[in-house]
Amino acid sequence: MERLGRYIRPYVLYILFTMAIKLLGSGLELLIPFFMEKILDDVVPTGEKPMIFAFGGLMLLCAGGCLAANVVANRMSAVSSGKITRKLRYDLFEKLESLSAAQMDRLTVPSAESRLTSDTYNINQLLARVQRLGVRAPILLLGGVFMMLGMDAVLALVLVMLLPLIGVIVYIVTKKSVPLYKEEQTVLDRVVRVLQENITGVRVIKALSKTEYEKSRFNDVNEELTAIDRKAGLITAATNPSTSLVLNLGLTLVVLIGAFRVNAGSTKSGVIITFLTYFVMILNAMLGITRIFVMWSKGEASAHRVADVLELGKDLQPEPEAEPSSEADPPHVEFRHVTFSYTGVGENISDLSFSLRRGESLGILGGTGSGKSTVISLLMRFYDPQQGEILIDGKNVRSYPAAELREKFGAAFQNDFVMEGTIAENIRFFRDIPDDELSRAARDAQAEEFIRNRKEGMDYPVAVRGNNLSGGQKQRLLISRALASDPEILVLDDSSSALDYRTDAELRKALKRNYGRTTTVLIAQRISSIRSCTKILVLSDGKTIGFGTHDELMRSCEEYRLIADSQMGEGKGAV
Ligand code: ATP
Ligand code: MG
Repeated sequence: MERLGRYIRPYVLYILFTMAIKLLGSGLELLIPFFMEKILDDVVPTGEKPMIFAFGGLMLLCAGGCLAANVVANRMSAVSSGKITRKLRYDLFEKLESLSAAQMDRLTVPSAESRLTSDTYNINQLLARVQRLGVRAPILLLGGVFMMLGMDAVLALVLVMLLPLIGVIVYIVTKKSVPLYKEEQTVLDRVVRVLQENITGVRVIKALSKTEYEKSRFNDVNEELTAIDRKAGLITAATNPSTSLVLNLGLTLVVLIGAFRVNAGSTKSGVIITFLTYFVMILNAMLGITRIFVMWSKGEASAHRVADVLELGKDLQPEPEAEPSSEADPPHVEFRHVTFSYTGVGENISDLSFSLRRGESLGILGGTGSGKSTVISLLMRFYDPQQGEILIDGKNVRSYPAAELREKFGAAFQNDFVMEGTIAENIRFFRDIPDDELSRAARDAQAEEFIRNRKEGMDYPVAVRGNNLSGGQKQRLLISRALASDPEILVLDDSSSALDYRTDAELRKALKRNYGRTTTVLIAQRISSIRSCTKILVLSDGKTIGFGTHDELMRSCEEYRLIADSQMGEGKGAV
């Protein structure tokens, strides 16, 4: 928790005040049995009714005061822990947004999700519980023992001797159950993951008749979770009967020994009854303290998980350029001997070099996993290459402030996401773009027709993940989004894969006509989509196996010719 100290510090005074109120409440609670003893042993024997009422009134006052103090303190604890958690969650969210792609790869998305939700919740619970039980339980425990010692030291010692027994029980149970609860958390993560995959992939699972297999897969993790839960539950459940046993043992001893002592005249009968009340109070306090320990170990683990993210350094910061480019007219986009690996093992891009002038276009072709999308990720500086340089307008991309760099691009990524909202919102995507620009982009992206076919037009509500659009419609929406800002550099990753040949050709015509000054990077599976590009890059396993125009490659690149031959029959008409 120390690592989150700066979130708690502003509320320290408020929390101390809360605890002071809690202290007052607990003190009043301790007084109730004390007054009861007074009534039973000192007032009742005198038979003075007014005195009985007076003491009764005092007890009532204590109870009322205790109730009020608890209500106020609990509300205050909810307020401070709520505010702390809110700030924490906000900062965590902000941090997650600013992480670089490589940092996010290491963290993983499910882990980020659980840190933002269940971990911050655990911290919230810990903060609130410590304020509530953290004062009350020790005060009731120590205060109770102190009061008992004051009334009858011998009898009190009998009970105090039983307390270590409870301590041992609780220690064993906690030690056994806490690791189980932690394990349960990770299994729960797995259940959620299987569930997520299932829901996202429900169509393909049905299509491939894998429902039975998926059911058994879910069943397995579910069984595992149940088993751990049962085990942890059984161990925890042992706490109650064993503490009850100790409790009843203590009560029996008090009554038994107390009876002898009352007979011998060394104690009064009211003391016995009061002891019974105090003992129950103390026992509950002990259980409360152990609950804090469990909460603490959970909250502490969560605090570390959250702090780990918050303390991540800023990756991919702009770096001042060593020496400004001396070239008079540098290319718009240039890769110089770029080598990159995601994990440091093997190379995902090897010694890649090419350059594009403003308005030129690059087509990238290659098998799956050959590194096509990686080229774009490097160009947009989602990752930094291990070797070589990437330049835009003669300046290394590392030297651009992130916003300035990203503003140059309009991009439609592979499997990009369509969000819930209107079509217009999806194209605008929170940028400052006037309506007529949106329509222009939609027209160029060949999305106009399907938008016009809906009676709401641009205000048509798109469902979550674009579920009420076809694959091709989604793709056109994404292309519209890329075009809407009239970018300097346009990046389309696999954007024509769900377009029919005619639409694909129309799209290319529109790009040529209206985006003459835009430098374009096109990734495609079909030669027809890229054959008119100024330059074509053929990748295989991260290596450049061909670079040039379509005609050059047809002559020089064996692989390119093979792909072209295999696609010729279908692609020819759609150039
Ligand atoms: P496709 O045509 O299927 O889209 P691609 O040519 O775009 O393929 P890339 O996405 O560039 O392929 O991936 C190139 C290689 O890098 C692949 O072997 C892939 O496994 C690996 N790779 C991609 N992203 C990551 C990542 N975030 N972490 C680790 N490895 C990755
Ligand atoms: Mg790709």
